[in-house]
Amino acid sequence: MYSIDTPNGCIAAPRRVKSRPAAARGAEDPAVGQEVESIETLDLELHGRPCSTAAFLLRGDANVLIETGPASSLPVLLPQLRARVERLDWILVTHIHLDHAGAVGALARHYREAKVGVHPRGVRHLADPSRLWAGAKAVYGVETERLWGALEPISPERLVPLADGERIELGDRLIEAIHTPGHARHHLALHDPASGDLFAGDALGIQHPAATVVRPTTPPSEFDLARALDSAERIRALGPERIWLTHFGRGQGGVEELCAAAAAALRRWSERAEALLAEGADEEAALVALREAAAEWEAAMPGEARATVEATNSVALNLAGIAQAAARRATADQGCQDEPRRTRWVKG
Ligand SMILES: [Zn+2]
Repeated sequence: MYSIDTPNGCIAAPRRVKSRPAAARGAEDPAVGQEVESIETLDLELHGRPCSTAAFLLRGDANVLIETGPASSLPVLLPQLRARVERLDWILVTHIHLDHAGAVGALARHYREAKVGVHPRGVRHLADPSRLWAGAKAVYGVETERLWGALEPISPERLVPLADGERIELGDRLIEAIHTPGHARHHLALHDPASGDLFAGDALGIQHPAATVVRPTTPPSEFDLARALDSAERIRALGPERIWLTHFGRGQGGVEELCAAAAAALRRWSERAEALLAEGADEEAALVALREAAAEWEAAMPGEARATVEATNSVALNLAGIAQAAARRATADQGCQDEPRRTRWVKG
């Protein structure tokens, strides 16, 4: 477990966790249990806030970075990387939202030997980020570059599409891609079955290190409650020993508890938001009511932690995603096959 050691309840410096292969755990010969990997949580201090968004560095025969954060966090990420590794062999991202993969192109330019693993649906958008950029501009306008930094393309031959269940050999470890749609269709989790570490991206929501409460991440334009619940259950059923959340760090408490809390939060937020909309509340009234409900659900969260969670993934963003998903379902229920599609892969 992490200790809480700064005034805002955040982790002061990257922590390293060493774990052993499953075969070694419980082995009688202590020599069998020698450490084979390390995981460091790098705080990207998204928009100046600590404990909002992480990248994870796995050092070994191959050096692997999981998540990059946005390009605007590169001045925070690069010095941390340079202090630790000379080479990056792989960059893996759970999905292509800007807070997870916005810096991929720039980082690939700094680390020219690194291959980039991403969901097959994300490949073309990393090779040509023009649609990602247009989606971000539509939401953030003139503030886009300041908030998220510039998106750089990656040459397609460096991009590796990760199919569901695909195992990537990373030197002395194997990492399995587990497709976990719900937050977005192109979301995957990364699982090391030998060590028991699972990198959940946004599939289980946000948990600040100073709290056990989980806030789901249900943004436009692809949020799907049923898929998100299936994905949370899939992660639980894999039986990982540790879960690592991009927002933020190692999951608190037991894995079963975290997965149950994530599923409960997904249901609670969706039910309340949909009920408000079904009652005929307009957007503004629904937002006020959902903010009040969230304050109640998250009452155990210290104020600063709650402000960080809100800055990372706002109530408004969650409401917009849930409302859009409900509208999509209603359209589908009416038998309309050609539902309108807008792609806004921005953040969340
Ligand atoms: Zn996110």
